[in-house]
Amino acid sequence: MGHLGELQQALATYLKPADLARIEAAYELAEEAHRGQFRKSGDPYISHPIAVASILSQWQLDAQTLIAALLHDVVEDTNVSKADITERFGRQVADLVDGVSKLDRIEFQSQQEAQAENFRKMLLAMARDVRVILIKLADRLHNMRTLDAVPANKRRRIARETLEIYAPIANRLGLNSIYQELEDLSFQYLYPSRCRVLSKAVAAARGNRREVVSKVRVAIEKRLRESGIIAQVQGRQKHLYSIYTKMREKHLTFGQVLDVYGFRIVVKDVTACYIALGVLHGLYKPIPGKFKDYIAIPKANGYQSLHTHLFGPFGSPIEIQIRTQEMHKIAEAGVASHWLYKSSDDSITELQKKTHQWLQSLLEMQSESGDSVEFLEHLKVDLFPDEVYVFTPKGKIMALPRGATAVDFAYAVHTDVGNRCVAVKINQELMPLRMALKNGDRVEVITASHAKPNPLWLNFVATAKARSHIRHFLKTMHFEESVQLGERLLNQALAALKSSISAVPEQQWTTLVRDSNARSRQEILSDIGLGKRHGAVVARQLLAVGDPAAAGELTSMGPVMIRGSEGMAVQFSKCCHPIPGDRIVGLISKGQGMDIHTHDCPLLAKSHPEPDRVLDVEWDNEMKKLHDVNVRIIVANERGVLAQVAARIAESESNIQNVTVEPQDGGKYAIMQFTLQVTNRQHLARIMIELRRIPEVVRITRMRN
Ligand code: MN
Repeated sequence: MGHLGELQQALATYLKPADLARIEAAYELAEEAHRGQFRKSGDPYISHPIAVASILSQWQLDAQTLIAALLHDVVEDTNVSKADITERFGRQVADLVDGVSKLDRIEFQSQQEAQAENFRKMLLAMARDVRVILIKLADRLHNMRTLDAVPANKRRRIARETLEIYAPIANRLGLNSIYQELEDLSFQYLYPSRCRVLSKAVAAARGNRREVVSKVRVAIEKRLRESGIIAQVQGRQKHLYSIYTKMREKHLTFGQVLDVYGFRIVVKDVTACYIALGVLHGLYKPIPGKFKDYIAIPKANGYQSLHTHLFGPFGSPIEIQIRTQEMHKIAEAGVASHWLYKSSDDSITELQKKTHQWLQSLLEMQSESGDSVEFLEHLKVDLFPDEVYVFTPKGKIMALPRGATAVDFAYAVHTDVGNRCVAVKINQELMPLRMALKNGDRVEVITASHAKPNPLWLNFVATAKARSHIRHFLKTMHFEESVQLGERLLNQALAALKSSISAVPEQQWTTLVRDSNARSRQEILSDIGLGKRHGAVVARQLLAVGDPAAAGELTSMGPVMIRGSEGMAVQFSKCCHPIPGDRIVGLISKGQGMDIHTHDCPLLAKSHPEPDRVLDVEWDNEMKKLHDVNVRIIVANERGVLAQVAARIAESESNIQNVTVEPQDGGKYAIMQFTLQVTNRQHLARIMIELRRIPEVVRITRMRN
């Protein structure tokens, strides 16, 4: 292998002259691009793509696949670009090469079995076209065949990856011969001494067994012939690695594993399969419970055969597989087998249909049914449409639902990571948290200890886990905050009665909680904070419980209504910019009237005002004044975005008081900070909804502080 002439000969047997010319052109491009590059073995580099194409030609794959095979390393290793390939060989070939290059770029690191399964799925999902996987497998097979030239430490890594990832994929696709060869080659490099010992033992045993095998075969052939069945009878040998795993997993000795004689009988049609079965059960006694009919019920990968075990003439069990020629080809070549049978016209053969059905069940791919659709189109589907596979910074693979964002990823890693995430790097680049993840992305969440979940995340998270954690967090926050405010308001009310929370005896609280059907004192406080109970009423109740006389002295004290027309007496604070609709509290500043803060203003909470300076206030419905509010908008930094955003704000009947723009992330994104004038919360919400309709807008938050 590795010779152009041999490849051309093989291709000429099944491809049209026009295809051969295109393949030759691809060869010339690859040869020129790789000129001066050498493999570790010292061979010119071009020998590798030729060898890969030769492996694929044995499965009689189509011209696009062969061209892509010849070019599979040029994008990664030379200056030929994807655009060059598209221009010369078309989009399909370029996509195949691109698919293979993408797979080359991701590396399997983890040793865990569950991770290996995810990695295999990730590869299949990334491939998107089964032919990409076939090229990759042929590439890996040739690299394994020439692994001797590679340094020892690298050899082990490649062999392990082959054993854990590529051999199982070959097996799952039904590519039996490639699967066995990949396993045996990996075995040889991973466990050289075990492999040597075992292969010597097998060779010796097979020598000894030859006589028995040939006697049994002669007996089978004779009996089939007498029954008028035309059949090929072959002795079957297990490949080395499967002998090794059987010994290890089932704790069998070498003798026990090898002391089973395997035969395969290939006949002309299905009827002959069942007749042959009956004939053989007459020749040797069947072992009960060992018969399996995979013709009536094929395996998930399309495999069909009859399996039976017989008591052999020398006391050893005999394993028999009976199948037709067509079934045999599927068993050997799997997904590639439909090309082996390509009929001269372009109609879909029975076998292609079957292969197709099998692929569907095997990979649970989405059907875009319709008989007229080209078969090849069916190979280009999302193999795992519901999932996306991404890497953690340590190389662990996480499976997430399709559409999952960095926030979903953060919560999947750990609740704390989710609750504290502030930014994300995807493939080393800073990205917005709402960015949907793609297969193979390397995701690194940046957290900050003070950070909290943002309610806006609920607009884009895709996993139930993230959603419920964000909700839970917000609810808890809400509760704690309302308890604090309730406490303040109650204290204020109690102060008017010349009392305070700390002065109320425990017993009075217990009675009040019971009488008002509340679950706890906290709940009553939270209710006050949320405005469900009136602080003054609760204060009166509390004191009445202890001293009915005290309640009587209570003067009515409702909240102070804020109209916005109070002038200097009432200031709307610059730290939290409250707007009508916000829950607010008044803070009496010494000699300067009252500052209105939002109830959750961080600055207000931090300043720990004396309780008697905090006042219960509410917005008056008549409020008409416009209020300043700060909004931060993250946008993809496209030309003209600022103009678009500003126009949309103006259309929403708001004024822009101030704006700053700061490029972020090397100019990819920009942060715009607006001071807007709005009438109330609903007005602000309407503006934000409008702005979110602009495609470049990534995220909008109202700023506090
Ligand atoms: Mn390669």
